[in-house]
Amino acid sequence: MLADEIARHARKKGAELVGFTSSREALRCLRAPWARSAVVLGLSIRHPLLATGVRYPSWEEPRQFIDVIMDAIALSVEEFLRGRGYRAMAVGASNRSVDLRNLVISSGLGVEGRNRLILTPEFGPRVRFSAVATDAVISAPPRRVENLCGSCRICRDACPSGALNGEFDISACESYNRKLERGSGLLVKKCTLCTDVCPVGRRWE
Ligand code: SF4
Ligand code: SF4
Repeated sequence: MLADEIARHARKKGAELVGFTSSREALRCLRAPWARSAVVLGLSIRHPLLATGVRYPSWEEPRQFIDVIMDAIALSVEEFLRGRGYRAMAVGASNRSVDLRNLVISSGLGVEGRNRLILTPEFGPRVRFSAVATDAVISAPPRRVENLCGSCRICRDACPSGALNGEFDISACESYNRKLERGSGLLVKKCTLCTDVCPVGRRWE
């Protein structure tokens, strides 16, 4: 089965999560009208390559590091599909102009959490995604993830800007982050508290 072969290849290249979707609506974000399916790839931010003893000030630095690895894995899956005669196009994690959220949810790899981030049962929000659009018709058993937050409110209580009280207040979050950047003099200094405190997927720590 093509799905199994792709998953085997992606895992061999380092992907920890592999999902598939053929939802037309979800595929739209890839801007590839010819695509009939997408392969969705995930890698946790606790990748062993990060275990070098370096202490990062926040998740932002390891996130950028993981994005580069995800780009390489997506390109490898693109190449794999092309080798099978299919059209394929990788959309790497570092391509910030494409929002992969709907694609990830549709593939069943994760759901949106109260912190507005995609949560996976395996790694909580500490995971990055990339995708590969293809004209191959890929059928795979559906994977479904239920609400992972339950009655938890930890991120809401930890949020220093109040952005998670009720509907997500993106302007409160952004203005807090601007303040942080100005204070630190670092462009990459970002608040990542709602990622740090989430208890989902912490079993590996
Ligand atoms: S990034 Fe920080 S300020 Fe923004 S929602 Fe998360 S915890 Fe709140
Ligand atoms: S901290 Fe709790 S409420 Fe927030 S996203 Fe994680 S599980 Fe959901």
